[in-house]
Amino acid sequence: MVAEMDAGHGADSVTVVPVDQDYADIRDSVRRICEDFPGEYWREKDEKSEYPEEFVQALTRSGYLGALIPEEFGGSGLPIRAGSVILEEIHANGCNAGACHAQMYIMGTLLRHGSDEQKRKYLPGIASGEIRLQAFGVSEPTTGTDTTQLKTRAVRDGDHYVVNGQKIWTSRARQSDLMLLLARTTPADQVKRRTDGISTFIVDLNAGKDNGLEIRPIPTMINHNTNEVFFDNLRVPAENLIGEEGRGFRYILDGMNAERVLVASEALGDGRWFIDRAVAYANEREVFGAPIGRNQGIQFPIARAYAQLRAADMMVRRAAALFDDGKDCGEDANIAKMLASEAAWEAAETCMQTFGGFAFAREYDIERKWRECRLMKTAPISTNLVLAYVAQHVLGLPRSY
Ligand SMILES: Cc1cc2nc3c(=O)[nH]c(=O)nc-3n(C[C@H](O)[C@H](O)[C@H](O)COP(=O)(O)OP(=O)(O)OC[C@H]3O[C@@H](n4cnc5c(N)ncnc54)[C@H](O)[C@@H]3O)c2cc1C
Repeated sequence: MVAEMDAGHGADSVTVVPVDQDYADIRDSVRRICEDFPGEYWREKDEKSEYPEEFVQALTRSGYLGALIPEEFGGSGLPIRAGSVILEEIHANGCNAGACHAQMYIMGTLLRHGSDEQKRKYLPGIASGEIRLQAFGVSEPTTGTDTTQLKTRAVRDGDHYVVNGQKIWTSRARQSDLMLLLARTTPADQVKRRTDGISTFIVDLNAGKDNGLEIRPIPTMINHNTNEVFFDNLRVPAENLIGEEGRGFRYILDGMNAERVLVASEALGDGRWFIDRAVAYANEREVFGAPIGRNQGIQFPIARAYAQLRAADMMVRRAAALFDDGKDCGEDANIAKMLASEAAWEAAETCMQTFGGFAFAREYDIERKWRECRLMKTAPISTNLVLAYVAQHVLGLPRSY
């Protein structure tokens, strides 16, 4: 395996911590879990568009999906850096955490903004895996990234809210008991700021089935179990509102930073996997009487991808350190996600090219990982929107939206 990245701890620190001191036990243990789920397992799931239930159960049993839940609620109470390590290692070992990573971080909104009663009711079950909260209903078909314009409405009716509208790309909705839903409770033309009047709810997906809630799978180029979700007078108990009505947009922002850091970590893991594969193949494949890796046209792209991955890794660590210190990490989390997804894509492209025609044969897993890795440049936030954030919110350039 290519040398692993060194670690830097502390938001403003450039201390380089050897990898064997950066949650080495967790890395080892995640590697061992992944050994039971080789490429063959993922290939079959991909071909049949099946949910990797066995892998998700193994991770659940390990307790890693509850890593970020405080111990008082049955989790491990670990910092986000530990979550990063878990997800990076899953991807570096050829597996894909996309089927369950949201179980790790969606609960953050509930943890930070939910009532004591809500936390006691849900968090222990989420920590044990008995309750799956891994569906996040934000994106809508007509408003796209312009989240504040979302059209799904929740209207108070006695001790319930009545929800109408549609979400799209709600991943894992069929493999989740609960969904974190973002819906408008006050029409956009009646609020001062466009971020006002949006609320966050816990929706019981099992109770909603055939009762105002319909989930339709979307066939996609990767096995990501994503769906359209339709709400037709779905009744959600008012006690399922998180925090105050109308403040939901703010509540999900810190959760989105956590998501960006964690997805960036998965991208780093993918990048490591591609580079390991490319190096091994470039050393072993002989054409014109010599290993192809002797040619600089083969070795330089691999070295460049590795260098880009190292740089992205530093940014991911910095964003995680800021998050763990409770500091504003919007800039760092966005940049980390963009750089890590681009570095991983560079590594994916390089690996494709290094493998020549064999990259296209399913049995090598390169084409599948290449497809899977591409998602990270688009979701959970696209590269353009990260650049718009940096340009407008960090650098003070004129707003494009
Ligand atoms: C497999 C998959 C799983 C997903 N899972 C979830 C999920 O679980 N929950 C959820 O809520 N969402 C999910 N998403 C949605 C995802 O977050 C969005 O697709 C993504 O944020 C992009 O939004 P959009 O598709 O509406 O693109 P649009 O907003 O329509 O944008 C289209 C293109 O235009 C660009 N663009 C738009 N506005 C600007 C601008 N002002 N300046 C420059 N460029 C701009 C964008 O960058 C993008 O490239 C998922 C998506 C996919 C594909």
